[in-house]
Amino acid sequence: MNNIADYKIDHLSIGTVCSHSALQIFHGAKQEGFKTIGLTLPSRKSTYELFPLARPDEFIELESFKQLLTTENQKKLLDKNAIIIPHGSFVEYVGAKNILENYNVPVFGNKGSMIWESSREKVTQWMELAKLNVPKYKSPDEIDSLCIVKLGGAKGGRGFFLVKNETEFYDKLGPNKIEDVVVQEYIVGVRYYHHFFHSVIKNRTEFLGIDQRLESNVDGLHRIHEYVEPSYTVTGNAPVVIRESLVPGIIKMGENVVKASKELFSPGLSGPFCIETICTPDLKFYAFEISARIVAGTNVYPLGSQYSCYYFDEPMSTGRRIAREIKEAKQNDSLEKVVS
Ligand code: ATP
Repeated sequence: MNNIADYKIDHLSIGTVCSHSALQIFHGAKQEGFKTIGLTLPSRKSTYELFPLARPDEFIELESFKQLLTTENQKKLLDKNAIIIPHGSFVEYVGAKNILENYNVPVFGNKGSMIWESSREKVTQWMELAKLNVPKYKSPDEIDSLCIVKLGGAKGGRGFFLVKNETEFYDKLGPNKIEDVVVQEYIVGVRYYHHFFHSVIKNRTEFLGIDQRLESNVDGLHRIHEYVEPSYTVTGNAPVVIRESLVPGIIKMGENVVKASKELFSPGLSGPFCIETICTPDLKFYAFEISARIVAGTNVYPLGSQYSCYYFDEPMSTGRRIAREIKEAKQNDSLEKVVS
């Protein structure tokens, strides 16, 4: 349940948690003429005050991110006719289940997608229904080639490790419980994290960019000649373009993910999403994750990307694209279609 029907639609504002992709979200919202609200811890406020073109118009200060859920803070946002833009940190701090059940402020996109993206089992089911090639999952006794062991919960790759056989798996498992990890075939190739935006207003899936995550220490290992155990902690992102002949296949993947979402959680995915892939030498994409909200990799394109410029003849970041969708939904009197 959200309260969008009670909103004064000429006084909408856009709010998000000061973290992740918030600068881009505020910047884009301002470009589209919205007032902006930053939900922040006192320690982060000064950073978000620094940038004149991305500084939120107003701050709501929180002692801890737990306070995002309090009735008082939700009421403050409802009184300001705020639409919250969920990003990775917001979903992590509030929790997908809480967003679905206990959060009454209108949230951009379909909350159902947060439930589906935050469980590895569910996201795998989603990717398979969308006919993406998903690297094989294995039980410990099936490990017969290089595999990556992933810990539960999206922690930006933190704590992941590699194993080649069952013995190595148990040696490296440490204090982690077997039921809390998954083992997946390791795909050697080049990583591409594809950004999309599904517009329910325009009824089209836009391909807005690609980034590559810069992960420590694995992305630094080619600089040394000794064996060092790789780790996968995300530290940043870099822009990439891809062979143009691969673009049709990428767009098909995006469209298939949207189509599958409609079967899994009606009315399906709406707004930004990302398919994380690895491209092998035979030019096949393996998909290991869907993020069903703005991803931090879009921060490399605050003024639009090498692909967004073919849809829009003005700088169009994902943050601005979100605000544009809200603006168009408002003009069409269909705000309820873009929030949940
Ligand atoms: P987030 O939710 O922040 O995207 P996560 O903790 O769910 O991260 P993944 O995105 O699944 O983790 O993986 C983290 C990193 O591990 C990837 O960016 C990639 O570098 C590497 N990785 C994941 N799966 C595979 C795989 N099957 N083969 C090779 N590398 C992989």
